[in-house]
Amino acid sequence: MSKIPLAALLPHEITKALNLAQEFRGKQIFKWIQKGTIDWNEMTDLPGSLKPEFASKADPRTSVMESLTGEKDISYKIRIKLFDGLYIESVLLVDDQERKTACLSSQVGCSMGCVFCKTGTMGCIRNLGAHEIVEQFHILVSRFGEISHIVFMGMGEPLLNLDEVRKAIAVFHHPLGKNISLRKMTISTCGIIRGIKDLALHGPHPRLAVSLITADEETRKRLMPCSAANSLEELKGALSLYQKETKKWITLEIVLLKGVTDREEDIRKLINFIPPLRASVNIIPWNPAPGLPFKRPESLRIQWFRSRLTEAGLVVTQRYQKGNSIDAACGQLFVTE
Ligand code: SAH
Ligand code: SF4
Repeated sequence: MSKIPLAALLPHEITKALNLAQEFRGKQIFKWIQKGTIDWNEMTDLPGSLKPEFASKADPRTSVMESLTGEKDISYKIRIKLFDGLYIESVLLVDDQERKTACLSSQVGCSMGCVFCKTGTMGCIRNLGAHEIVEQFHILVSRFGEISHIVFMGMGEPLLNLDEVRKAIAVFHHPLGKNISLRKMTISTCGIIRGIKDLALHGPHPRLAVSLITADEETRKRLMPCSAANSLEELKGALSLYQKETKKWITLEIVLLKGVTDREEDIRKLINFIPPLRASVNIIPWNPAPGLPFKRPESLRIQWFRSRLTEAGLVVTQRYQKGNSIDAACGQLFVTE
């Protein structure tokens, strides 16, 4: 990469990176870049005489959309080619109120190796730069129009690339850019304790979702190798800290695997695990991924699981199986080459 990628630079950083004599030029360029403009000629308030120099030094967009699959008005998956020839996937989800959510990747692949997740079979090839995270959003907006919500639930573990995810959040949140509230951004983590504490103490404070999967420690260790170094007790301590610092509810994601995480004891242990945390439970029936040895529970079992938690007074939501038919649902993102 010889040119300076601009997508994740804040106005003052653009001023510095391009050595601009006037501070306001950095703001002008930031606004254009965050509108998704990639052609310097369309940046009409910049002096024409400076544009060739900008174009030779800096790059508004380093990645390109390669392909798009979609279920009309429900979900769309895009495959993006990065500057070095690697691929990632990002997803646009549309809910029944036509609210749009961008599901962004934070890494190429993922090193965490959760055995129920297709991305986990890739290993982590590399972290994404902040600009590559922001560019996913710009590409989705250019294709589907404005998007109100962002979830870091695509490929990768965002808390293992926290510095770049932080920069991307700062850009999304900036008042001269998309100005997306932190309430509308969610980081989903498999439970990296160091990262949760770092976020709690140093910010920013988006919504936090944790792939708890099950509150049965032994099963969790079997399904999620990372949980060997991140015990449930320590995880709960980190979540308490996040809650203390942010006053925000936390979402616990439970992927339902038939006979593995949908048992009576999973329910009992989950009900015990939560208090005094203020946490809602998001049930995600497992999305099939070729080659992985699990099954989704039957719908009656899912209903039973859900109602047991509701009867215990928990707040429960269930994720629709959006994107299933195009392999764009949670845990199905995967690229080769
Ligand atoms: N690495 C982060 C974010 C990406 S995974 C994390 O683990 O939280 C996004 C979500 O997909 C997580 O909640 C994860 O538990 C879930 N998931 C992974 N594989 C899945 C599958 N095959 N079916 C359903 N959900 C899955
Ligand atoms: Fe990585 Fe999340 Fe998949 Fe686990 S569930 S392998 S942490 S992407």
